[in-house]
Amino acid sequence: MIKTWSTPLRHEKRREEPCALCGGRDFSARLRCEGFGYVRCKQCSLVQMNPQPDAEAVKRRYSGDDYLEYEIANEKTFLELEMLALADAGFYQFESGLDLSGRRALDIGCATGALPAKLRERGWQAEGVEINGRQADYARRTRGLLVYERPLEENRLTAGAYTLITASHLIEHLRRPRVFLAEARRLLAAEGRLFLTTPNIDGFQARLFGSRWRSAIFDHLYLFSAKTLTRLLEQEGFLIEKIVTWGGLAAGSAPRPVKFVFDKLAKRLGFGDVMLIRSTGL
Ligand SMILES: [Zn+2]
Repeated sequence: MIKTWSTPLRHEKRREEPCALCGGRDFSARLRCEGFGYVRCKQCSLVQMNPQPDAEAVKRRYSGDDYLEYEIANEKTFLELEMLALADAGFYQFESGLDLSGRRALDIGCATGALPAKLRERGWQAEGVEINGRQADYARRTRGLLVYERPLEENRLTAGAYTLITASHLIEHLRRPRVFLAEARRLLAAEGRLFLTTPNIDGFQARLFGSRWRSAIFDHLYLFSAKTLTRLLEQEGFLIEKIVTWGGLAAGSAPRPVKFVFDKLAKRLGFGDVMLIRSTGL
């Protein structure tokens, strides 16, 4: 099983953190990986890396050059997957009910800017947030996008300014997912929607592969389930509208027809490898 690309393991300051969902400190070991591990909160079942790196260490992870090549090489595939997932989650119905002129969209963790560029093509006034300087530069230079380079909550963006907020494969990297969601909620317009994509710890692949699961990587500080992420979203003022999951078997792990059927089932039954939650403001 090939894991998702991650910054290389390094020695950094780490400390035990309470559960980011309920504040509990009673954990059981969940996944033991090479050089790091995840625990499960006994109270609310949130899975988080523990001990966790400090803020400086996390910042350093994303200040390097290595991410850019990976993102450029994969941006087309990632965009296609994200557009399919958005379609499944009812994005096009949501969009078709809007007059897009002057509507702002914000893609947080926009990497090379492929998604905001696509949204702009569709009529959105699309912007991005990307803390990796080289990727932010790339998105500005090659796509002419407006990209904020600080973490979301440090940009002092206007409350209620965004009708669409997307964050794909981002929240699992953050030290403070609650702070992030609170800020996203503040920025969301009254009729706006948040589309959040993240690996699914309750999915079939996570169960099958354990610590070899492709999403159990050094860069992922939280491994959410639909249940834990729903609870966090609701606590921060979101109303869940739809949850979709996809990806049953890893590519190449089974004959194509088997994978096809399994992927369909995973999607229908909610045990897919990745999930997308669509929510609106309460
Ligand atoms: Zn907890």
